[in-house]
Amino acid sequence: MGNFENLSIEQRYKIIFDENQKLKKQNQKIEEQNTQLLDIIENLSEGVMFANNKGDFINVNQEAKRLIYKSDIGINIADAFKNIEVFDMFGNQVPYKDFPSVRALRGEKSKNVKIFVCHPNKEYYAEISSTPIYNANGDLTMIVSCFHDITETINQSKKIEEQKKELEAIIENIADSIAIFDDKGKYILVNRASRELFLASYKSLDNISDGYNPSEFYDAYGEKIDARNIPANRVMRGEEFKNMRMIVKSPSKTLQIDVNGTPIYDSNGKFILGVLCSRDMTDYFKHEEIIRGRYEFLNRMVNTFDLPVARLSYKDFKIVDINRKAFAIIELINSSVKSINQIKGCKIEDLFENFKKSEYYKCLDEVLKDKKIKYLNKKALTLNGNQVYFNIICEPVFEVNGKIREILILIIDVTPEIKSNIVMEKALKVQGEFLVNISHELKTPLNVIFATAQLFSMYCNSGSLDDKKDSIIKYIASIKQNSYRLSKIINNIVDLSKIEAGFYKLNLSNNNIVEIVEEIVVSLTNLTESKGLNIVFDTDLEENIIACDIEKIERIVLNLISNAIKFSDRGDEILVYVKNENKFVEISVKDNGIGIENEHLDMIFDRFRQVDKSLSRNAEGTGIGLSLVKSIVELHGGNIYVESEFGKGSKFTVRLPKEKVLYENMIYSSNVRGHDENIKIELSDVYS
Ligand code: ADP
Repeated sequence: MGNFENLSIEQRYKIIFDENQKLKKQNQKIEEQNTQLLDIIENLSEGVMFANNKGDFINVNQEAKRLIYKSDIGINIADAFKNIEVFDMFGNQVPYKDFPSVRALRGEKSKNVKIFVCHPNKEYYAEISSTPIYNANGDLTMIVSCFHDITETINQSKKIEEQKKELEAIIENIADSIAIFDDKGKYILVNRASRELFLASYKSLDNISDGYNPSEFYDAYGEKIDARNIPANRVMRGEEFKNMRMIVKSPSKTLQIDVNGTPIYDSNGKFILGVLCSRDMTDYFKHEEIIRGRYEFLNRMVNTFDLPVARLSYKDFKIVDINRKAFAIIELINSSVKSINQIKGCKIEDLFENFKKSEYYKCLDEVLKDKKIKYLNKKALTLNGNQVYFNIICEPVFEVNGKIREILILIIDVTPEIKSNIVMEKALKVQGEFLVNISHELKTPLNVIFATAQLFSMYCNSGSLDDKKDSIIKYIASIKQNSYRLSKIINNIVDLSKIEAGFYKLNLSNNNIVEIVEEIVVSLTNLTESKGLNIVFDTDLEENIIACDIEKIERIVLNLISNAIKFSDRGDEILVYVKNENKFVEISVKDNGIGIENEHLDMIFDRFRQVDKSLSRNAEGTGIGLSLVKSIVELHGGNIYVESEFGKGSKFTVRLPKEKVLYENMIYSSNVRGHDENIKIELSDVYS
């Protein structure tokens, strides 16, 4: 400085000026830095507030104003807090004296205090730290508070907390039992279902290492599961598994459960939690057991059934199983199948042509759709050249869950019923035809009788009875003739009914059959001559005594001769022959009339059956004569047969056994009508 005194005024002034300039610059720089700092503070995302030791604000940045103070420099904290309420995180109001900034004025430091700030219109969560600042002398000169908005974070954690609670409520109320334990094996969550299911079975549900006394675990096969392999320990080992079936036996009950186990790891791959999810399947298994039992029963039934049975899968209708009887049918339809095993697993459509277009496919499809049993009745099939009829039952077999597992097919052979129905229908038709026929046969003679009676009454009225005497005699003969015809029809119907009811009895006596037949032939000579026919009797033995009912034998022979006359032409010949055989006497009536077509030969002895009327020239008749003859012959222990060539003639042969009776029954052999009368009745068809 000594030097400074030696300097001139100008020099001195210059130095002072320079120094001044320097200081000014420095001041300016400090001023600039200060502004910069304030700028930075102003724009910080963190709220910052400075106040002097009296609590007057020195600086309050934007964020600090937004969150808390809304006030500017110079205002005192106490005024700034007038309209604000502050709460701690538990909802308790924080008194003014305990505000972190106010505490800082007292020299207390606070760090990261979470508060809830309520402005008249807005609310924030904020985290605040306040510090007192001292000068070199240790006097508190300032306080600074920093805070930031944690509203978003708090709201999020609140949301997470709510979701956690929701999740816990769901887990708590879920029907499956859920138990969660930590890496030490300590249960941290055991939901209600789990408590209800297991608490009665285990002493405690605190830690898996407590064991599950007094219960014991068994697997589905009844093998005891050792402690190492109980579900919780498997999860602890890091195993993940599904549907571990086990039986829990406790002194009070036995449960069948299904357990899923999952280990949960943290991001470093360390086991942190184990989750066990179990379900009480006791009832389900019981049902399953019942259904399995039924299923096995079904299996056995299929194979032992006497009915054809097949089991088809619901999908694609594949054969699951089939018994022998059903296989026998398939074998006849499709000759390429060789064995039951070969067709097991085959689709039905591969075994039967056009199956998918058939009503059988439609029926199976309906079973699946309607989940109901379906029937196909009276289905005709030709097997081995024979027409057979089946009733087919398609029944769905269900799983425990109500889904269709298979379709069971039962086949019932109804061929005998259907065939007997057909026979019955035919018989009814024939009977109907017979009635129509018989009423016609009854009406024809009746009409003649009525017409004649009318004629007679006309003659009476006109007084011409005497004049018409000749024709009246003819008409009387006609009345008689038609009465005979009526008698014959009625006799035949009555006798046939008697035979059917088993009331028709023979009055057997020992007679010379040759003589009986010859007498009949002789008595007919006049009639045959009048018709231009030649009737001849012949025999190889003059006397042949056998047990017979004379009246019935007459009916047999007259019936056969009557037919021979009916179906012969003028000039034809009828040969009646009695032949002695070893054990039989044969009576044959042979004509060379129209004959019978081969195809009709079988049916002419059938009841109510007449050979095609259009073929019979003389079509009078009811079609019961030969059937009656056959029955009477059979009552005698004999039989009758016919030989005929269409267009050439017929030969009827009756064979009667050569037997005799010890006690002849002549009492009822009352030939009440007389021999001639009988002939007239039996031959009423051919008399004119
Ligand atoms: P009907 O009362 O109609 O004559 P039958 O039972 O005596 O009934 O005869 C049955 C059918 O057998 C006749 O309708 C006829 O078609 C045939 N028939 C019977 N005998 C002869 C025969 N000798 N020649 C040709 N056809 C005959």
